[in-house]
Amino acid sequence: MLMLEETSPLSSKMRISVDHEKLGNLSQNQVRFYLKYSSFVFRALKKPLFQKFLHWMLKKERIEEQTVKAVHVKVLPLRRKNGKGIAGNCDTARGRIRIYPKTTKFCQTFKQKFGRTNLLVYAGNRARAALIHELLHLKYIEDEKTVRELAKDYFCIFTQKHSLQSVHSLFIYKMIFNAKISGKKAPSSVPTDPSIRLKPNETCLRASGIFK
Ligand SMILES: [Zn+2]
Repeated sequence: MLMLEETSPLSSKMRISVDHEKLGNLSQNQVRFYLKYSSFVFRALKKPLFQKFLHWMLKKERIEEQTVKAVHVKVLPLRRKNGKGIAGNCDTARGRIRIYPKTTKFCQTFKQKFGRTNLLVYAGNRARAALIHELLHLKYIEDEKTVRELAKDYFCIFTQKHSLQSVHSLFIYKMIFNAKISGKKAPSSVPTDPSIRLKPNETCLRASGIFK
């Protein structure tokens, strides 16, 4: 634990961040929801296992940890002009990364369909994938294609190592691939052996590449 703290300064640069003026437009319930969501994501991203993984990834990519100045877990979601939600973004000049939540509406529908536990796993993995993606932008600044490909690979390395040890987790994995709740059906032939390499395709892309 001590060693990990010494080698994971990234963790110390993480903050929950809220635009107070925007909170006024929301209902009490929504505010409560987003505060809970952000604190859950914050904890998920700070977990030693994930921090250790990020440390390894940054080292492998030769990205200095000091290039990361701040990681802000935003309380409120952000939408692009086309209405699509953003999972994260990166100010590469300043080394500042922001991670955004899903909307209350999305989460309600998701919870009704798949249950609370699956929603939590989904939200955690979405944020992890977003952080991996945005960290890679510090090196491959404008190269979205490379970032997406690498983010997909790294996200899959992490999930296969740490999250796909059960059928339950595989279900979540499938869901991230098929993020549209009412959309396409998940493929029925997902292997249950975690040692089998899944074909991530859109799953990881969806999870990690929908930002920027
Ligand atoms: Zn990107």
